[in-house]
Amino acid sequence: VKKKAGKYAQQVAPIRQAAVLGAGIMGGGIAYQSASKGTPILMKDIKEEALELGLKEARKLFAKQAERGKLTTEQMAEKLSHIRPTLSYGDFGHIDLVVEAVVENPKVKEAVLTELEDQVDEATILTSNTSTISIDRLAQNLKRPENFCGMHFFNPVHRMPLVEVIRGEKTSGTAVAATVAYARAMGKTPIVVNDCPGFLVNRVLFPYFGGFSLLMKQGADFQRVDKLMEKFGWPMGPAYLLDVVGMDTAVHAGEVMAEGFPERMGSLGGGAKGESQSAIQLMFENDRLGQKNAKGFYAYE
Ligand code: NAD
Repeated sequence: VKKKAGKYAQQVAPIRQAAVLGAGIMGGGIAYQSASKGTPILMKDIKEEALELGLKEARKLFAKQAERGKLTTEQMAEKLSHIRPTLSYGDFGHIDLVVEAVVENPKVKEAVLTELEDQVDEATILTSNTSTISIDRLAQNLKRPENFCGMHFFNPVHRMPLVEVIRGEKTSGTAVAATVAYARAMGKTPIVVNDCPGFLVNRVLFPYFGGFSLLMKQGADFQRVDKLMEKFGWPMGPAYLLDVVGMDTAVHAGEVMAEGFPERMGSLGGGAKGESQSAIQLMFENDRLGQKNAKGFYAYE
């Protein structure tokens, strides 16, 4: 069956060299996926430990493939060498596309993107992996907003097929096409969506987290809720999914959603302004971040 060429299948030069800012859960996953599918990638963070952790995760995933006989030891070493960790912008002059994947804080992201724009070539496409922050908001201080769009991966990056490509008001068709092409080269299924807080998937997902949080406040057993949602047919329940996402990321994203849709105050189930906090906020404040610090709803080794 011949598939129709999508609206954004216009001819664009393939991404030969990519970069990712942030070597956390998402940045590390994006670096692994890019290297795994053959696009070399620079991975920049501000902390040496984060780079080490990102590389360790990538090594683990490549080792799993080698164990399954899908990669030889030499191939594994070669793919791993396609991820180049760095603490500086020194080599950013010849990058085709950058994915920003630093913390979900609009002010930090705005500062990082402005700084990044001065380090890259004029034609470099800049993208953000933000879960919820409006692309137009992030673009407002950029000199070349036409080269900027959202590239929203899901966690864990190597397993989740969907990538939302978010087109801002000023994003050019070329930037969208290049981002779509890179997502495809990474073996993903891109969808082009319009800009709004939470885009498509998180606009659906956050009210679901909010519903779960309200159930928790009414004394529900999270393990039971998880089991029931699995019986319903979902691959995992809300508590486990929140552990995977990270409570810090969920709380920050929830704040952006609540700001974007004030008519639905407390998109994490915090209730109307002034009511008690959401169950997810309480987990966050008690340092139960999820898998990233080995304690969330569940305990991890
Ligand atoms: P994380 O906390 O695991 O990693 C963030 C990394 O960014 C850290 O290693 C930190 O040192 C680094 N960093 C901070 N400031 C930096 C800077 N100026 N330059 C370079 N690196 C910097 O966070 P995460 O879960 O990987 O989330 C990253 C982004 O991806 C957020 O915008 C988040 O909303 C989005 N996202 C997260 C998920 C998820 O499930 N966790 C899913 C989709 C999208």
